[in-house]
Amino acid sequence: MNLDKFGQQIEEVLHRSQLLEDCVSTSPRQHEHLLAQAFEELRTALEELRVAEEELRQQNEQLVVARQEIEVERLRYQELFEFAPDGYLVTDTYGKILEANRAAATVLNISKNYLIGKTLSSFVPEEERYAFRSQLTRLHDIEQIQEWEIRLQPRRGHIFDASLNVTTIKDKQGQPLGWRWLVRDITARKQAEAKLQAIQLQNMQLQEVARIRTQIMSVLSHELRTPMNSILGFSQLLLRRYYHLFPPEIRDMVERIIKSGKHLLTLIESILDFSRLESDKLELKLQELNLVELVTATTEELRLLAEQKNLALVVHSNLENPRIVNDSVRVQQVLVNLISNAIKFTETGGVFVEVQQLNPNRVVLMVKDTGIGIPESELTNIFQEFWQVDRSTTRKQGGVGLGLAIVEKLVRLMKGTITVSSNLGQGSTFRVELPRQICPGLTH
Ligand code: ADP
Repeated sequence: MNLDKFGQQIEEVLHRSQLLEDCVSTSPRQHEHLLAQAFEELRTALEELRVAEEELRQQNEQLVVARQEIEVERLRYQELFEFAPDGYLVTDTYGKILEANRAAATVLNISKNYLIGKTLSSFVPEEERYAFRSQLTRLHDIEQIQEWEIRLQPRRGHIFDASLNVTTIKDKQGQPLGWRWLVRDITARKQAEAKLQAIQLQNMQLQEVARIRTQIMSVLSHELRTPMNSILGFSQLLLRRYYHLFPPEIRDMVERIIKSGKHLLTLIESILDFSRLESDKLELKLQELNLVELVTATTEELRLLAEQKNLALVVHSNLENPRIVNDSVRVQQVLVNLISNAIKFTETGGVFVEVQQLNPNRVVLMVKDTGIGIPESELTNIFQEFWQVDRSTTRKQGGVGLGLAIVEKLVRLMKGTITVSSNLGQGSTFRVELPRQICPGLTH
């Protein structure tokens, strides 16, 4: 039963008592009868009133329970609002802050009490306030803005990047009452984005530098190779034709020209190889080859170098099937580089070349020496181009630090791996693993 009904019943009782009163005053003789009737009606009315009162009481109780439930909900939402990890604000349509949670106060570095009543625009750096206010005006039409990135300036503290999400609060008629704001500090995200951009830029620059470097190297070496070949060719011809006519010191001079020319040509070839490998322009010419024969022949070619330094040069193989598929010229290039380095950096003892079976699909080439060794800190850099452990010694020994870089790239192109281990003063071991067959696209 609602209040209206209850009021109607009271009205009804009043009306009836009025009627009775009227009857009593107009016909006093029926007094007794009317009195009885009046009592009866009063009793009924009272009964109805009691029922109504009971219903009202029950409704009141339900109302109290409902109010309590609403209060609990309200507190729950208040807590959610209050302790939310993001800043929440409620402003009127002029941007004046009406409500704020803790996170909002923290983000704006001001206590909540001081925050209420301030305009949000007062937290925008002065030079950006005009743009901010225009956007607020726009909000009247567009009603909400997602991910609005601006800079905010807390009362004390640094300007920071923030993202705002705004929605309009409306009354029942749809008129805007204010705005609800979600404020997020996105400094970390912005910094990460800036870092990423810087890295991408740096990457692009590095790629460009690498590209230009490869191009220069390739053009230069091409341009150098042709005249170098003719210098070499003509000096060799000169020596052959006029050997007997030349006095010994002239012979010696021409021989020096040839030696230096050959050295320069090897260097030019290395630079060319390296730039081809860098730009993926080098292709392997695959064919079946006898690995043990290749290793033995290559070692023999270098034997003179080892003998000049009184070094032992030993080849050992336990390969049952020496046939593999690879590019013989390039496998030889790898071996020449490793063995000549081993000889170059060894003064006593020797160089030991081993060929082993690793598993049915892979073989191992090992070049060990008893030379100066490589410091542990240098082992990771050793395959970098133009890297030399000690420039003064290596200059004495010749070389520019391209050999191992080429070897590493060649081995990778052959789908193999190269590793090095070394003990300073005791020697180094270079270990190359190669597949028996090179399948395109297979890395191991
Ligand atoms: P380089 O033309 O200088 O020999 P490499 O790329 O072949 O260039 O070698 C780079 C550097 O690695 C050498 O200068 C040397 O310092 C070191 N190195 C290479 N092989 C050996 C080795 N077997 N023993 C000691 N040091 C070595």
